[in-house]
Amino acid sequence: MPKYVYDFTEGNKDLKDLLGGKGANLAEMTNIGLPVPPGFTITAEACRHYLGHGGMPEGLEEEIGGHLAALEERMGKRLGQADDPLLVSVRSGAKFSMPGMMETVLNVGLNDDSVLGLAKQSGNDRFAWDSYRRLIQMFGKTVLDIDGELFEHAMDDLKGEREDTDLDAADLQRLVETFKGIVRERTGRDFPADPREQMDLAVKAVFDSWNAPRAILYRRQERIPADLGTAVNVVAMVFGNMGPDSGTGVAFTRDPGSGRQGVYGDYLRNAQGEDVVAGIRNTVPLQELETINPEAYRRLLDIMATLERHYRDLCDIEFTIERGRLWMLQTRVGKRTAAAAFCIATQLVDEGLIDMDEAVTRVTGDQLAQLMFPRFAATAGNHRLTTGMNASPGAAAGRAVFSSERAVELAGRGEAVILVRRETNPDDLAGMIAAHGVLTSRGGKTSHAAVVARGMGKTCVCGAEELEVDPHARRFTAPGGVVVDEGDVISIDGGTGAVYLGEVPVTASPVAEYFEGEPTRDELVRAVDRIMTHADSVRRLAVRANADTPEDAARARRYGAQGIGLCRTEHMFLGERRRLVEDLILATTPEERQAALDALEPLQTGDFTGIFEAMRGLPVTIRLIDPPLHEFLPDLTDLAVKVALADDRAADRADDRAADRADGRTGGGADDRDRRLLDAVKRLHEQNPMLGLRGVRLGLTVPGLFAMQVRAIAAAARRVEGACAEIMIPLVGAVQELEIVKEEAERILAEAGVEAAIGTMIEVPRAALTAGQIAEAAEFFSFGTNDLTQMTWGFSRDDVESAFFGTYLDLGVFGVSPFESVDREGVGRLMRIAVEEGRRTRPDLKLGICGEHGGDPDSVHFCHEIGLDYVSCSPFRIPVARLEAGRAALTCAQSDTR
Ligand code: PEP
Ligand code: MG
Repeated sequence: MPKYVYDFTEGNKDLKDLLGGKGANLAEMTNIGLPVPPGFTITAEACRHYLGHGGMPEGLEEEIGGHLAALEERMGKRLGQADDPLLVSVRSGAKFSMPGMMETVLNVGLNDDSVLGLAKQSGNDRFAWDSYRRLIQMFGKTVLDIDGELFEHAMDDLKGEREDTDLDAADLQRLVETFKGIVRERTGRDFPADPREQMDLAVKAVFDSWNAPRAILYRRQERIPADLGTAVNVVAMVFGNMGPDSGTGVAFTRDPGSGRQGVYGDYLRNAQGEDVVAGIRNTVPLQELETINPEAYRRLLDIMATLERHYRDLCDIEFTIERGRLWMLQTRVGKRTAAAAFCIATQLVDEGLIDMDEAVTRVTGDQLAQLMFPRFAATAGNHRLTTGMNASPGAAAGRAVFSSERAVELAGRGEAVILVRRETNPDDLAGMIAAHGVLTSRGGKTSHAAVVARGMGKTCVCGAEELEVDPHARRFTAPGGVVVDEGDVISIDGGTGAVYLGEVPVTASPVAEYFEGEPTRDELVRAVDRIMTHADSVRRLAVRANADTPEDAARARRYGAQGIGLCRTEHMFLGERRRLVEDLILATTPEERQAALDALEPLQTGDFTGIFEAMRGLPVTIRLIDPPLHEFLPDLTDLAVKVALADDRAADRADDRAADRADGRTGGGADDRDRRLLDAVKRLHEQNPMLGLRGVRLGLTVPGLFAMQVRAIAAAARRVEGACAEIMIPLVGAVQELEIVKEEAERILAEAGVEAAIGTMIEVPRAALTAGQIAEAAEFFSFGTNDLTQMTWGFSRDDVESAFFGTYLDLGVFGVSPFESVDREGVGRLMRIAVEEGRRTRPDLKLGICGEHGGDPDSVHFCHEIGLDYVSCSPFRIPVARLEAGRAALTCAQSDTR
């Protein structure tokens, strides 16, 4: 039988898969001698069994019993013992932190008897009754599924105008009775008095909370696998609500917003753990603890330094002070903003704690992408309503909305919205995802809103206390009586905490400017520069750009592209040139066709010349025309209507044939060209154009089209010194197709005296499956994973994402769209086959990817793993791909800070 329960002394920080992040780190802290209340962890494996089989694994209850007995012995008291009760907390803790998304129950072990024992032992009746009412409230909501508002309303009724802290022991005793009444009424049974039953039910409720809707939503957002399950930690209670010499707080070893070293955190006197994170009462800055309890403060700073050295990273901490004594309740490698991630990584290098290799693995491409977001341009002259805390950076403008539902609704209509709340709680997650930014009037930098927004990279200003937020009236009032109603536009600056009325224009980020070639300036840009330089030095994958214009090519080069991996030539047939393509299609004789091609050729030569110049010395992969020709013709319906209308008009004038002759019309009203075009559109119409006459099939059936493009490439290459052309044939499924095109292309190149590699895209499953043959004719492969995904799954790339992917994601068919991130098992398998068989035929076969996946971090890692030579992506994604290629070379393991 597997071991399902670990004492804190048995675990360590590397057992996160089994013990979850919280359990593993509690064990680690225990083992390095820090003051952790004793306890044990029930593994995520037990949770998976429970969720999979609908019941606890055999033997688990006894195993828990054994660990509980050991805990009782150690503490010298039994769970719920009447005269001196041991109380425990039952806390969730998954492998990846999911702040506030799952459940926790505190004070387990209290009942009508043990509350008296607790009162006696603590000498504090109020505290004992307060603890008891918290247990019934949390247990009722979490374990018994009772609407939490019922408890809150009962408490509000009792309080009237008073604060929580004004309630005395007798009030709280009365509240306990009311709460027990709510439980009886709602569940038809009494609140369970048996401490062990309380504990067992709480453990199951925590397991169940893995599948709570908000947890599912959070996992999807953060790409956390759905089948990990959560561990459960049972920990001896320590109390931060035992009086003024008690309290609870959270701390960071560095500023998670900027990375600066110092003391960052919030402290709440005479309160229990969840009060801080929920942002219910306003906290004081951690520094004030120095005055409140200097000894505990010094001890805390020592522990923070120990943790940073031990974990070699920023740690966040939850602690409680019980009657002056400090206890550590949690630590983990802390979430941080993107800017802080870069700064901290290089600071730790300078402090000798990590090396540059590790620094590269400590940041992600997604974080880098966030830093390239724009910020507010000059804000002077805008009406600043107030300044709150700069909880998560970025700049966001949008319509103020006051509920999560409204945020989702307006965002669904394409509106930019700012979600404004007094404080957020985990139920606001959908609204936070939908909103451009989040603004709260309460809570510190460690409140729910701040923690979750930072994790998502969403702009957030929190604790803007001067704002009076009235969610029912859907408005807030700012100092000076300025009222902002739902729908009014506001702007928030997550970097400074400023809140503005109206829309403030945004400007480029310094990191984006750095990639554009601006000199290195502040600490952040210097950190990005160091990390990018190192990533470039260790990566094996080259990074190219998908670019079709000289401007894009030049930008890509500034961003570090080492060539063009995909130049789509179809963009060169649009605009004014459509008419020439029409001529080509309408040609009825070889001479007419050649005339149309001759007109296009110099224009194409000009296009390629510009791109070769921008990329001088670097390879440029030019893909011959891919889309079906009718895409260049007018729309069937438009054209049919045009022709029909013209014919109607002609019929009206049917008597006046002379007029018809005079304006050059024949046989009726429509222009002859329109009529011929309509015929061509009808002829070329396809039910499934994506599976029809496109790519190489077009090249083989429209004589002279590919030849014209190859001649233009050759002519441009001759014009530009250092031009390095590679010619790529799209949609090949059989080597024969490629051979025919190749033979003609080679002849043209030889005549022009130009050398160019000829290769193919691998975007039809058959091409992947016959890659060994195709490599006989191809000097390179480039995976067109857009089409390869479409054809492997049978998903129309133009339709399915908006049609039913939402449902598929909800159903868990996949966690992320296969059009976004390579589906490793299906599409990825075909890619592996093609790599292996292609290289077997031609060991020096060059391999790349040019589908959208080329700029997706996870897909870049996959491309590294299967041994591609380069990835190609849009110019703005190049820095991300460079960084991820470096990270992939150093480690393919997932980031621990997710
Ligand atoms: C692809 O299919 O992945 C590709 C790059 O080609 P396109 O997107 O132009 O079809
Ligand atoms: Mg394609």
